[in-house]
Amino acid sequence: MIERIEVHVTELPVRVKRIFSSGSYDTGPRDRILGKPVLVRIHADGVTGCAQIRPISPGHFVADTTQGTVAAITEIYGPALIGRSIFDIEGINEMFDLRLAGNPAARAVLDIALYDAMGKALGTPAHRLMGGACQPRIPLEWSVSLADDPAVMVEESQRAVSEFGIGVLCLKAADRRGWRQDVANFERVRRAVGDDIVIGVDPNTGWSVADALRAVDALRELDLGYIEQPVARRDLHGLAAIRQAARGIPLMADESLFTLQDAHELAHAHAVDAFCIKLYKVGGLTAARRIGAVAQAANIQLNCGGLAVQSQLEAAAAAHFYASTPRSRMFGAGEFLFGLNTTAPDPLVPETDFVVRDGHVDVPTGPGLGVAIDEEALRRHTLLQATVQ
Ligand SMILES: [Mg+2]
Repeated sequence: MIERIEVHVTELPVRVKRIFSSGSYDTGPRDRILGKPVLVRIHADGVTGCAQIRPISPGHFVADTTQGTVAAITEIYGPALIGRSIFDIEGINEMFDLRLAGNPAARAVLDIALYDAMGKALGTPAHRLMGGACQPRIPLEWSVSLADDPAVMVEESQRAVSEFGIGVLCLKAADRRGWRQDVANFERVRRAVGDDIVIGVDPNTGWSVADALRAVDALRELDLGYIEQPVARRDLHGLAAIRQAARGIPLMADESLFTLQDAHELAHAHAVDAFCIKLYKVGGLTAARRIGAVAQAANIQLNCGGLAVQSQLEAAAAAHFYASTPRSRMFGAGEFLFGLNTTAPDPLVPETDFVVRDGHVDVPTGPGLGVAIDEEALRRHTLLQATVQ
């Protein structure tokens, strides 16, 4: 039975800031709560399930903030979890819907912590609770920030390829100067990294349908690998039209996909070829697996996104999901590599071998998520703490 839930907001000593067409991705200055990750520890029957998620607003299409996530856990979800079994996954996920709709980041961190707890209670890695290790070695993708100077995008792309062996790049697009600038950026990066690297674009809803049709025509010549969320999240007809016109260049939904119902509507509209799953966006591993079933029924592939900035726990959760899904059902490569010592070490996990090698990472094999945090580091980096019991 769940006895106690600890919630910690923790410091990220190295600030990460990235620009995309609809906003920014910013972990914020030191000592500020907004933008910092939320860690939970669920104590039950002698085991502790641990997980971490960084709520990514403000400036992002997912509305959750750090304080909002803490409040959802401490005021609503947490008290309703006390006394329940860590194995009551379906019942707990139903409770999330009934007690407080939305709040995918809060749900995600709790749901993932339950998988960590179940794995530890059974002495088995989380991926074994979700279907086993179909793909223990996971290819990784690097999302390249927009920049006014294309040389900055080229430099970031070259670093991803040469320093980390990345084989898939996703260029942020919908530059404020218009779609032709996106084509120019793409061309510069293509020339710099060569023809063996897969390069996609992510305008983050910043293109019109007309922009998208013209940009895709121009980018086809430069071997465009895929298109992620070109137009507004509710424009399923627009997505379907772009998909038709793209003639085989895969189209992926990100902003359009939060819920199981979104997945169903996208499938029904024949709008996309792939779904971008981010655990903080869909509400955790249970929700991700349900969306995966809808995708499988509709012959839509899955992509595993979310940068997991400086969080081994957040990256590990995505890795277990990725590893437990057969290769034929996955699209592209995992995007959670900013949790793997590429921007800075995880301040809570000073020693780790869960790192990028040759553009890949191996799914952890220890019990649960397979990531152990350092108690002293957690104490030192905690900005705010609350307990539910
Ligand atoms: Mg995206």
